[in-house]
Amino acid sequence: MKALEKSHPKEGLWMVEAPVPEIGPDEVLIKVNMTGICGTDIHIWNWDDWASHTVPVPMITGHEFAGEIVELGRDVTGLAIGQRCSGEGHLVGTDSRQSRSGKFHLDPGTRGVGVNVQGAFAQYLRLPAFNVVPLPDNIPDEIGAILDPLGNAVHTALSFNLLGEDVLITGAGPIGIMAAAVARRASARNVVITDVNPDRLALAREVADVRTVDVSQESLHDVVAEMGLKQGFDVGLEMSGNQTALDQMCEAMVMGGRIALLGIPPGLAPMDWSRVVFKALTIKGVYGREMFETWYKMIALLQNGLDVSKVITHRFPVAEFEQGFAAMKSGKSGKVVLDWRDA
Ligand code: NAD
Ligand code: ZN
Repeated sequence: MKALEKSHPKEGLWMVEAPVPEIGPDEVLIKVNMTGICGTDIHIWNWDDWASHTVPVPMITGHEFAGEIVELGRDVTGLAIGQRCSGEGHLVGTDSRQSRSGKFHLDPGTRGVGVNVQGAFAQYLRLPAFNVVPLPDNIPDEIGAILDPLGNAVHTALSFNLLGEDVLITGAGPIGIMAAAVARRASARNVVITDVNPDRLALAREVADVRTVDVSQESLHDVVAEMGLKQGFDVGLEMSGNQTALDQMCEAMVMGGRIALLGIPPGLAPMDWSRVVFKALTIKGVYGREMFETWYKMIALLQNGLDVSKVITHRFPVAEFEQGFAAMKSGKSGKVVLDWRDA
């Protein structure tokens, strides 16, 4: 099969011929139709500090996918050949306290598809049946291929009750933009999203009904005053990983406000903790998706009219993967989807 592999410990990915994976008794083989390029894949492409310390070489990358089941392990029940699916890219064990209490997404032994085990940028993917998420007929493959980041957005946005609340999202990357759309569906009163990149903010306005703020040009403080928010934002979703954005968010919150942190700062990030204390803020770290409650909720939201299709701005046949990665690296794109059907 064809696969996109980190074959050498340096910048880039290479299209290689690899053996079709053999599956175990509890696994399925999935024929991959579409994949999404994630920020994680860009780290792996760039071979930055994190990637070179985390990813063994060679490694088939990629974890955002949609496809269909073509082979079932002998102990697999409840799934069928031909079933369209996406799937959770975190492989968990069943021994930890967290897993045994049903919080699989908190298993400390988690391994990542396309990071620690062979990934989804390939014509075929081997996956534990446990990780498979069947796709309803009315969710197309290209949306199936972005359920992983949509799941990050849904997990973060649903961390706190948003009904009637004023919500600030920092960072209008694909995940921040989808979180804005979810916050709207969850009946937030006002949703404000910040960025320093006008292309990203324009995309946010296309995908979701939000007030965008370019914090390199406009003062968030003035926007809050103009919107008539008396004390500030009730809920903050940090989705930039940027230190200044988090500072600005803490400043803009109401007393007793709640913040969910998804963005990953590149290194140590100093924080004015006394402000957190005096404002009585709650801060929650968010990692991945809840297994599998987030998957259930996001599919329900999609079936109930949530439309994130416009967040996909680029589509390429996988032969043109280099253009796909270039689009992602330009910082101007939303989600980039690669089509594997004619690989
Ligand atoms: P992205 O890099 O595409 O988007 C981040 C956005 O933040 C960019 O548009 C950037 O211009 C913007 N930004 C930079 N400085 C800013 C500032 N001062 N104020 C406001 N915005 C600013 O990332 P993404 O793919 O949308 O992911 C969002 C974040 O979530 C990233 O930090 C990513 O690493 C992280 N992430 C975390 C998890 C998790 O499980 N916790 C999973 C996926 C992604
Ligand atoms: Zn991802």
